[in-house]
Amino acid sequence: METKPDYLIKGGKRLDGRKLADWREISIKTGVIENADGSAQVDFGKTKVIAAVYGPRELHPRHLVMSDRALVRAKYDMLSFSVEDRKRPGPGRREHEISKVTAEALSSVVLTEKFPRAVIDVFVTVIQADASTRITGLNAASIALADAGIPMKGLVVGVTFGKIYDEKGKGYMAVDVFKPEDQWGQADIAYAKSYNDNKVVLLQMDGDVTKEEFLKGKEMADKAMEYTYKEMVKALKGKYEVD
Ligand code: UDP
Repeated sequence: METKPDYLIKGGKRLDGRKLADWREISIKTGVIENADGSAQVDFGKTKVIAAVYGPRELHPRHLVMSDRALVRAKYDMLSFSVEDRKRPGPGRREHEISKVTAEALSSVVLTEKFPRAVIDVFVTVIQADASTRITGLNAASIALADAGIPMKGLVVGVTFGKIYDEKGKGYMAVDVFKPEDQWGQADIAYAKSYNDNKVVLLQMDGDVTKEEFLKGKEMADKAMEYTYKEMVKALKGKYEVD
Protein backbone atom coordinates (compact mmCIF):
# COMPACT_ATOMS: atom_id res chain seq x y z
CA MET A 1 0.00 0.00 0.00
CA GLU A 2 1.59 3.24 -1.17
CA THR A 3 -0.11 5.88 0.97
CA LYS A 4 -0.89 5.69 4.64
CA PRO A 5 -4.53 4.67 5.12
CA ASP A 6 -6.86 6.78 7.35
CA TYR A 7 -7.39 3.77 9.57
CA LEU A 8 -6.36 0.14 10.00
CA ILE A 9 -9.46 -0.74 11.98
CA LYS A 10 -12.98 0.69 11.77
CA GLY A 11 -16.19 -0.51 13.41
CA GLY A 12 -14.27 -3.42 14.92
CA LYS A 13 -13.06 -4.66 11.54
CA ARG A 14 -9.53 -4.64 10.16
CA LEU A 15 -8.79 -3.86 6.50
CA ASP A 16 -9.09 -7.54 5.60
CA GLY A 17 -12.32 -7.94 7.60
CA ARG A 18 -10.78 -9.66 10.63
CA LYS A 19 -11.53 -8.75 14.23
CA LEU A 20 -8.65 -7.84 16.54
CA ALA A 21 -8.16 -11.36 17.93
CA ASP A 22 -8.58 -13.17 14.60
CA TRP A 23 -5.68 -14.82 12.85
CA ARG A 24 -5.56 -15.49 9.14
CA GLU A 25 -6.37 -18.88 7.65
CA ILE A 26 -3.54 -21.27 8.49
CA SER A 27 -2.53 -24.08 6.17
CA ILE A 28 0.22 -26.58 6.99
CA LYS A 29 1.70 -29.28 4.78
CA THR A 30 4.57 -31.59 5.62
CA GLY A 31 6.97 -33.43 3.32
CA VAL A 32 6.76 -30.91 0.49
CA ILE A 33 10.42 -31.32 -0.57
CA GLU A 34 11.25 -34.95 -1.34
CA ASN A 35 15.01 -34.44 -1.38
CA ALA A 36 15.09 -32.98 2.12
CA ASP A 37 15.19 -35.04 5.32
CA GLY A 38 12.20 -33.04 6.52
CA SER A 39 10.12 -30.21 5.12
CA ALA A 40 6.97 -28.18 5.52
CA GLN A 41 4.99 -25.38 3.96
CA VAL A 42 3.10 -23.04 6.24
CA ASP A 43 0.69 -20.37 5.02
CA PHE A 44 -0.69 -17.63 7.23
CA GLY A 45 -3.14 -16.06 4.80
CA LYS A 46 -1.13 -14.83 1.83
CA THR A 47 2.21 -15.31 3.60
CA LYS A 48 3.60 -18.61 2.33
CA VAL A 49 6.86 -20.10 3.50
CA ILE A 50 8.67 -23.37 2.82
CA ALA A 51 11.24 -24.86 5.19
CA ALA A 52 13.59 -27.74 4.41
CA VAL A 53 15.84 -29.57 6.88
CA TYR A 54 19.00 -31.50 5.98
CA GLY A 55 20.85 -33.48 8.59
CA PRO A 56 22.20 -34.24 11.06
CA ARG A 57 25.17 -34.35 8.69
CA GLU A 58 28.88 -33.63 8.65
CA LEU A 59 29.65 -29.99 9.38
CA HIS A 60 31.70 -27.83 7.05
CA PRO A 61 33.65 -25.64 7.62
CA ARG A 62 35.38 -27.78 10.22
CA HIS A 63 36.25 -24.89 12.54
CA LEU A 64 32.54 -24.58 13.42
CA VAL A 65 32.44 -28.16 14.75
CA MET A 66 31.41 -28.51 18.41
CA SER A 67 32.64 -31.69 20.07
CA ASP A 68 29.69 -31.99 22.49
CA ARG A 69 26.70 -31.04 20.33
CA ALA A 70 25.34 -30.27 16.89
CA LEU A 71 25.15 -26.85 15.31
CA VAL A 72 21.69 -25.74 14.18
CA ARG A 73 22.24 -23.49 11.17
CA ALA A 74 19.40 -21.53 9.55
CA LYS A 75 19.22 -19.64 6.29
CA TYR A 76 16.21 -17.40 5.69
CA ASP A 77 15.57 -15.93 2.27
CA MET A 78 12.76 -14.29 0.31
CA LEU A 79 12.29 -15.08 -3.35
CA SER A 80 12.45 -12.05 -5.66
CA PHE A 81 8.82 -12.48 -6.65
CA SER A 82 7.58 -12.94 -3.06
CA VAL A 83 7.01 -9.21 -2.52
CA GLU A 84 5.18 -6.55 -4.55
CA ASP A 85 8.30 -4.64 -5.59
CA ARG A 86 10.73 -7.26 -6.80
CA LYS A 87 13.24 -7.90 -4.03
CA ARG A 88 16.94 -7.78 -4.79
CA PRO A 89 18.03 -11.42 -4.87
CA GLY A 90 20.25 -12.78 -2.15
CA PRO A 91 20.58 -12.14 1.55
CA GLY A 92 21.07 -8.65 2.99
CA ARG A 93 21.28 -7.45 6.59
CA ARG A 94 17.63 -8.23 7.26
CA GLU A 95 17.95 -11.82 6.02
CA HIS A 96 21.13 -12.40 8.07
CA GLU A 97 19.41 -11.14 11.20
CA ILE A 98 16.31 -13.30 10.66
CA SER A 99 18.51 -16.34 9.96
CA LYS A 100 20.33 -15.74 13.24
CA VAL A 101 17.21 -15.39 15.41
CA THR A 102 15.63 -18.40 13.68
CA ALA A 103 18.69 -20.57 14.40
CA GLU A 104 18.76 -19.41 18.03
CA ALA A 105 15.06 -20.10 18.58
CA LEU A 106 15.36 -23.60 17.07
CA SER A 107 18.59 -24.38 18.96
CA SER A 108 16.71 -23.95 22.21
CA VAL A 109 14.45 -26.93 21.44
CA VAL A 110 16.62 -29.32 19.41
CA LEU A 111 18.42 -31.94 21.54
CA THR A 112 21.74 -30.97 19.98
CA GLU A 113 23.79 -33.07 22.43
CA LYS A 114 22.50 -36.20 20.66
CA PHE A 115 24.57 -35.33 17.58
CA PRO A 116 28.02 -34.12 18.56
CA ARG A 117 30.12 -32.61 15.75
CA ALA A 118 27.20 -32.55 13.30
CA VAL A 119 25.16 -29.81 11.67
CA ILE A 120 21.42 -29.58 11.17
CA ASP A 121 20.76 -27.22 8.27
CA VAL A 122 17.44 -25.43 8.08
CA PHE A 123 16.51 -23.50 4.94
CA VAL A 124 13.56 -21.13 5.14
CA THR A 125 12.29 -19.64 1.89
CA VAL A 126 9.48 -17.10 1.62
CA ILE A 127 7.57 -17.71 -1.58
CA GLN A 128 4.89 -15.08 -0.97
CA ALA A 129 5.14 -12.33 1.65
CA ASP A 130 2.27 -10.55 3.38
CA ALA A 131 4.13 -9.76 6.65
CA SER A 132 4.97 -12.01 9.62
CA THR A 133 7.35 -14.04 7.45
CA ARG A 134 9.96 -14.72 10.15
CA ILE A 135 7.31 -16.22 12.41
CA THR A 136 5.64 -18.20 9.62
CA GLY A 137 9.12 -19.42 8.64
CA LEU A 138 9.95 -20.41 12.20
CA ASN A 139 6.74 -22.43 12.43
CA ALA A 140 7.57 -24.13 9.12
CA ALA A 141 11.12 -24.85 10.32
CA SER A 142 9.87 -26.34 13.55
CA ILE A 143 7.54 -28.72 11.67
CA ALA A 144 10.26 -29.57 9.15
CA LEU A 145 12.60 -30.55 12.02
CA ALA A 146 9.93 -32.83 13.47
CA ASP A 147 9.26 -34.20 9.98
CA ALA A 148 12.99 -35.00 9.71
CA GLY A 149 12.74 -36.98 12.95
CA ILE A 150 15.12 -34.65 14.80
CA PRO A 151 14.63 -35.10 18.56
CA MET A 152 13.29 -31.95 20.21
CA LYS A 153 12.01 -30.86 23.61
CA GLY A 154 8.90 -29.70 21.80
CA LEU A 155 7.75 -27.60 18.88
CA VAL A 156 8.52 -23.91 18.53
CA VAL A 157 5.33 -22.00 17.77
CA GLY A 158 5.04 -18.33 16.90
CA VAL A 159 2.42 -15.70 16.17
CA THR A 160 2.79 -11.95 15.62
CA PHE A 161 0.80 -9.19 17.22
CA GLY A 162 0.74 -5.46 16.74
CA LYS A 163 -0.92 -2.14 17.40
CA ILE A 164 -3.23 -0.67 14.79
CA TYR A 165 -5.17 2.63 14.76
CA ASP A 166 -8.79 3.57 14.09
CA GLU A 167 -10.01 6.68 12.24
CA LYS A 168 -9.44 8.78 15.39
CA GLY A 169 -5.88 7.51 15.77
CA LYS A 170 -6.68 5.38 18.81
CA GLY A 171 -4.50 2.27 19.05
CA TYR A 172 -5.72 -1.32 19.47
CA MET A 173 -3.78 -4.53 19.84
CA ALA A 174 -4.34 -7.07 17.04
CA VAL A 175 -3.08 -10.55 16.37
CA ASP A 176 -1.27 -11.93 13.26
CA VAL A 177 -0.39 -8.69 11.46
CA PHE A 178 -0.53 -8.53 7.68
CA LYS A 179 1.31 -6.13 5.39
CA PRO A 180 -0.61 -2.82 5.80
CA GLU A 181 -0.58 -3.31 9.57
CA ASP A 182 3.14 -4.10 9.60
CA GLN A 183 3.86 -1.11 7.37
CA TRP A 184 1.58 1.50 8.93
CA GLY A 185 0.72 0.22 12.40
CA GLN A 186 2.14 1.75 15.59
CA ALA A 187 3.91 -1.47 16.61
CA ASP A 188 4.52 -5.01 15.48
CA ILE A 189 5.86 -7.82 17.58
CA ALA A 190 7.24 -11.21 16.53
CA TYR A 191 6.73 -13.68 19.36
CA ALA A 192 7.50 -17.40 19.61
CA LYS A 193 7.54 -19.98 22.36
CA SER A 194 8.93 -23.40 22.96
CA TYR A 195 5.47 -24.79 23.42
CA ASN A 196 5.97 -27.64 25.90
CA ASP A 197 7.94 -25.74 28.51
CA ASN A 198 6.30 -22.37 27.77
CA LYS A 199 9.62 -20.54 27.30
CA VAL A 200 9.82 -17.48 25.07
CA VAL A 201 12.40 -18.21 22.35
CA LEU A 202 11.91 -15.16 20.12
CA LEU A 203 10.60 -11.68 20.88
CA GLN A 204 11.25 -8.72 18.58
CA MET A 205 9.39 -5.44 18.45
CA ASP A 206 9.20 -2.35 16.25
CA GLY A 207 7.30 0.68 17.53
CA ASP A 208 6.02 1.35 21.02
CA VAL A 209 3.33 -0.05 23.29
CA THR A 210 2.46 0.29 26.98
CA LYS A 211 2.99 -2.67 29.27
CA GLU A 212 -0.80 -3.17 29.42
CA GLU A 213 -1.07 -3.12 25.64
CA PHE A 214 1.80 -5.58 25.35
CA LEU A 215 0.14 -8.00 27.79
CA LYS A 216 -3.21 -7.66 26.04
CA GLY A 217 -1.62 -8.44 22.67
CA LYS A 218 0.35 -11.33 24.11
CA GLU A 219 -2.81 -12.82 25.59
CA MET A 220 -4.47 -12.77 22.18
CA ALA A 221 -1.33 -14.17 20.55
CA ASP A 222 -1.23 -17.00 23.09
CA LYS A 223 -4.73 -18.04 22.00
CA ALA A 224 -3.73 -17.96 18.35
CA MET A 225 -0.63 -19.94 19.25
CA GLU A 226 -2.69 -22.64 20.91
CA TYR A 227 -4.66 -23.04 17.69
CA THR A 228 -1.49 -22.96 15.56
CA TYR A 229 0.14 -25.60 17.74
CA LYS A 230 -2.85 -27.92 17.34
CA GLU A 231 -2.77 -27.44 13.56
CA MET A 232 0.96 -28.23 13.54
CA VAL A 233 0.46 -31.44 15.48
CA LYS A 234 -2.47 -32.38 13.24
CA ALA A 235 -0.33 -31.88 10.12
CA LEU A 236 2.47 -34.01 11.55
CA LYS A 237 0.13 -36.78 12.70
CA GLY A 238 -1.79 -36.69 9.42
CA LYS A 239 1.35 -37.65 7.56
CA TYR A 240 1.59 -40.94 9.39
CA GLU A 241 -2.07 -41.83 9.29
CA VAL A 242 -3.05 -44.73 7.07
CA ASP A 243 -6.39 -44.39 5.35
N1 UDP B 1 8.98 -6.76 2.83
C1 UDP B 1 9.10 -6.36 1.50
N2 UDP B 1 10.35 -6.30 0.96
C2 UDP B 1 11.48 -6.60 1.66
C3 UDP B 1 11.33 -6.98 3.01
C4 UDP B 1 10.07 -7.04 3.56
O1 UDP B 1 8.09 -6.09 0.83
O2 UDP B 1 12.60 -6.52 1.12
C5 UDP B 1 7.61 -6.86 3.39
C6 UDP B 1 7.13 -8.30 3.47
O3 UDP B 1 5.73 -8.39 3.25
C7 UDP B 1 7.45 -8.66 4.90
C8 UDP B 1 7.07 -7.35 5.58
O4 UDP B 1 7.58 -6.36 4.72
O5 UDP B 1 6.71 -9.76 5.35
C9 UDP B 1 7.59 -7.17 6.98
O6 UDP B 1 8.97 -7.38 7.02
P1 UDP B 1 9.73 -7.49 8.40
O7 UDP B 1 11.16 -7.18 8.13
O8 UDP B 1 9.01 -6.71 9.43
O9 UDP B 1 9.69 -9.04 8.76
P2 UDP B 1 8.49 -10.08 8.87
O10 UDP B 1 7.29 -9.38 9.46
O11 UDP B 1 8.22 -10.57 7.49
O12 UDP B 1 9.02 -11.13 9.76
